[in-house]
Amino acid sequence: MNYIDEFRNPEVAAQFVRLIAGQGRTLAAQGLRVHIMEVCGSHTMAIGRYGIRQLLPENVELISGPGCPVCVTDPGYIDTAIALAGRGAIIATFGDMIRVPGSDSDLTACRSAGGDVRVCYSPSAAVELAQSHPDREVVFLAIGFETTIAPVVSIVGEALSAEVRNLSLLTAFKLVPPALSALLADTEIKIDAFLCPAHVSAIIGSRAYEPYAAKYHVPCVIAGFEPLDILYGVHGILGQVLKNEARVENQYARVVRPEGNPLAQARIAKYLDPVDAVWRGIGVIPASGLGLKPAFAAYDSEKKFGLPVRPGRQHAGCRCGDVIKGKLRPTACALFAKVCTPDHPVGPCMVSAEGTCAAYFKYNLPDERQGGVK
Ligand code: SF4
Repeated sequence: MNYIDEFRNPEVAAQFVRLIAGQGRTLAAQGLRVHIMEVCGSHTMAIGRYGIRQLLPENVELISGPGCPVCVTDPGYIDTAIALAGRGAIIATFGDMIRVPGSDSDLTACRSAGGDVRVCYSPSAAVELAQSHPDREVVFLAIGFETTIAPVVSIVGEALSAEVRNLSLLTAFKLVPPALSALLADTEIKIDAFLCPAHVSAIIGSRAYEPYAAKYHVPCVIAGFEPLDILYGVHGILGQVLKNEARVENQYARVVRPEGNPLAQARIAKYLDPVDAVWRGIGVIPASGLGLKPAFAAYDSEKKFGLPVRPGRQHAGCRCGDVIKGKLRPTACALFAKVCTPDHPVGPCMVSAEGTCAAYFKYNLPDERQGGVK
């Protein structure tokens, strides 16, 4: 049995499913229904891929959260990138972003209309692009959660060392813990516990969730992406709910440390300061983003071009905002699988490889609970 098979063992999975079913029955006897938000888009995809939602008791519900960086990027950010392409800049980006809708258009249409939009497979490729086009400005679309922020922002250091001055970053970095706080403060969203993201937690550490678990009395369990990780995580959450506990439990200890990754944290702190950030569908969350420090203003696209990102508009029928907040299942959006498909996405949740709508489409997830383990 190889390393991955260990975490996909069907017999162990069946045991977990039976244990969780028992927990579900105990909760049902107390009239309890448990709403667990999986924060991370990779969890959403894994849950769809392995059919985990359908394995849970009827009174244990998994709700997908805001854990896809592409999905939470405001349309106004795309509008600004298109405007910069209109000023002659080369827009360098990871692939998902070129299909994300702005207020009126997207970067694919911008490219078709003559804009110079290029897909990069690593942040360093943007530095190379700037070096190979010294007479052009290169703008790198720097989005992401804590997982990817350190390697992305490190290109500022690379550019400084190589004396590359025609590169800048259009930043929309997001931080997960403040978003959890905003969701918990919204009384219209029912969240009893968090299945915390694995990779983000590897950077920020398990301790980062302790204030939220204590303040809002929600169990927070960090789990990996394999099916046994997720089932173990759900089992841990239900165990806490049954004991009326609200602790941070690190079930992904093979990767996540209590203190996180100090090297990545130091890299982030070197280049970036906390800023208020706009989240698609949620709005402004104080100190939930990171922007370049004033010392690196020469590499900050908004400052360099005097073109600040302003909030944009999403498609009138798109319910991505509600999907991102966990208020709506994708199948309840009137456009789902009719007008909006992965080939013709209307909103970012259908574009991204980690988007909730894309997961529901790809894995044909049910509208309503279809039985499940009682
Ligand atoms: S199905 Fe499409 S239009 Fe509806 S919320 Fe999802 S991405 Fe937006």
